[in-house]
Amino acid sequence: MRNLLDLDLPALVAFFESIGEKPFRARQVAHWLHQRGADDFSQMTDLAKSLREKLPGVAEIRPPRLEHEHVSADGTRKWLLDVGPNNRVETVFIPEDDRGTLCVSTQVGCALECAFCSTGRQGFNRNLSVAEIVGQLWWANKALGRDPKGERIISNVVLMGMGEPLLNFDHTVAAVSLMLDDDAYGLSRRRVTISTSGIVPAMDRLRERLPVALAVSLHAPDDALRDRLVPINRKYPLKELMAACRRYVVDAPRDFVTFEYVMLDGVNDQPEHAERLLRLTRDVPCKFNLIPFNPFPDGGFRRSPAERVRAFAGQLIAGGKVTTTRKTRGDDIDAACGQLAGRVEDRSRRLVRRMRPDTTLEVGA
Ligand code: SAH
Ligand code: SF4
Repeated sequence: MRNLLDLDLPALVAFFESIGEKPFRARQVAHWLHQRGADDFSQMTDLAKSLREKLPGVAEIRPPRLEHEHVSADGTRKWLLDVGPNNRVETVFIPEDDRGTLCVSTQVGCALECAFCSTGRQGFNRNLSVAEIVGQLWWANKALGRDPKGERIISNVVLMGMGEPLLNFDHTVAAVSLMLDDDAYGLSRRRVTISTSGIVPAMDRLRERLPVALAVSLHAPDDALRDRLVPINRKYPLKELMAACRRYVVDAPRDFVTFEYVMLDGVNDQPEHAERLLRLTRDVPCKFNLIPFNPFPDGGFRRSPAERVRAFAGQLIAGGKVTTTRKTRGDDIDAACGQLAGRVEDRSRRLVRRMRPDTTLEVGA
């Protein structure tokens, strides 16, 4: 039984061919699934009756189960999805004046153990399927719909929820291709952003397969500090990461990468850190996005004071880098990106510990 939400357009075409149907049925069904949020074949009234009756025998429409929806006072919304016993992932919608951004998760937990991240703290369980990744947009779209002018409320997607998207490469790419496809969600490549902790070979593969906007979680200006905060740096150190960023922006949808930088009080927020960041990124077309640290129980770090964040941003701007500071949103429901707690049954702890000194994570074939 194929779950049709697992299939991008080429796979959907192949599926319809395999059951003896014309390829254009794939587009028709994609419209129903992704643009109208259909969850039952009987709703697909422009399909031949015989096909509508055949489909339930060979295919299903199975989004992740919606467990909970929260709405925060500032308009932020959060959906909690059940992805199996003891496992939950979250997706968050953040409205802004000129856009609506959905923050999507790609894994149940994360194996990379960044020191300041509540997802990393919970360990890793498994990759999300395509249906579970795109299902987040499917649910949010159903809930939010269109504005009075007929425009989709969700104009942007950022893969900044739980997990490392580039360590779930194939499912992430298929889900993103549905986000971009005019027969599905039709988002612009410039408005879908993949955020990575810096999986260098996968950044190159992404550039070849499906270039979209890229954000890189930098968080430190030198290897010694980054090794500590973002342990995958031991495998892909800054020199290689900066080179990969320079390669990525050539002919990319956006001619810069966005460096995310979480502001940790007294750890990486001093004037000399900004100075070194400017030196490190001198030859990299980039912008900076400073993220005030979101504390969580036993997080072990403090958020930098607002005036320090302002001064740090000022220093980067004076050095010629466009720099923004993320507003903290949805604080009342813990819904800021990078702060999605979900719930994870860790299945990897021992494995990760063993790999830690010289991390050798699979990055896909
Ligand atoms: N794994 C990917 C994407 C998910 S994390 C990555 O690391 O890029 C999305 C962003 O939130 C990353 O920049 C991450 O470093 C940041 N983040 C994680 N925990 C955070 C916290 N407690 N406060 C603020 N930002 C955090
Ligand atoms: Fe994983 Fe990203 Fe969290 Fe690091 S910051 S542990 S890569 S989700």
